[in-house]
Amino acid sequence: MLPPDYHMHTPLCRHAVGEPVDYARRAREVGIREIGFSDHSPMARDNFDNWRMQDRQLTDYIARVEHARREVPEVNILIGLEVDYIPGHEEWIQQLSERHSWDYFIGSVHYISDWAIDDPQTIPRWREHDPYDVWQRYFKLLTEAAASGLFNIIGHADLPKKFDIRPQQDCASLYAPFLDAAASSGTAVELNTAGLRKDCREIYPNPQLLAMARDRSVPITFGSDAHDPREVGADFSEAVELAQRSGYRSSVRFEQRQRLDDAISLPRAKEVSSPAK
Ligand SMILES: [Zn+2]
Ligand SMILES: [Zn+2]
Repeated sequence: MLPPDYHMHTPLCRHAVGEPVDYARRAREVGIREIGFSDHSPMARDNFDNWRMQDRQLTDYIARVEHARREVPEVNILIGLEVDYIPGHEEWIQQLSERHSWDYFIGSVHYISDWAIDDPQTIPRWREHDPYDVWQRYFKLLTEAAASGLFNIIGHADLPKKFDIRPQQDCASLYAPFLDAAASSGTAVELNTAGLRKDCREIYPNPQLLAMARDRSVPITFGSDAHDPREVGADFSEAVELAQRSGYRSSVRFEQRQRLDDAISLPRAKEVSSPAK
């Protein structure tokens, strides 16, 4: 059985296709029993950028997800938001959380100051920076996001690897404070399979970061980051295997922003047979 898929988008963010009902039907088709929408949330100021819904579209978002619930009752459908963590926006995020009975918030860092680091149009900016400096600034923000308690799940934790521009240095000392913060606030980390579809060709987060998360008992969820119904549950068996190899035995669920520890248990990883001496 595949775990719930908690990361998927809608056309309201202007770079995804397919209605929520199409994503739900796809989940039913591939045997996923629970999904959650987490479209890019509005910002305090409309037209902050061109890849998220506007504030007034929140009600439409909720209505479209409710329509999917009515049409596909076989799938348990949750509703959340993927919210950008930007220092100074905490109060706005708090207000947003009170506007609906959300099931969870995914906190993501896409911006380092005014630079959307995962936007292909900004790749030239990567060439002007030392990758380690970018990772350092990114993980400082991610640590703040995890410590804030504003989010239930941290999205695509090592997003800066997207274009496969990676530091030479070992980044364990950047991951540690982030994961310590996640452990003490009880924030989960998602295994996001979208990385497999990008230049980095690797699930977010990388195995090193995930093993460090396991050492600290940081809970996990799974997300395809689908921007097209065909991507629902994409590569989930690979993600489950990665979780098992990292020592995870279970993932968690959320409802009404409460963590439920009854999530699926992951079957024990098969023993890796070592060659006979
Ligand atoms: Zn998106
Ligand atoms: Zn994202």
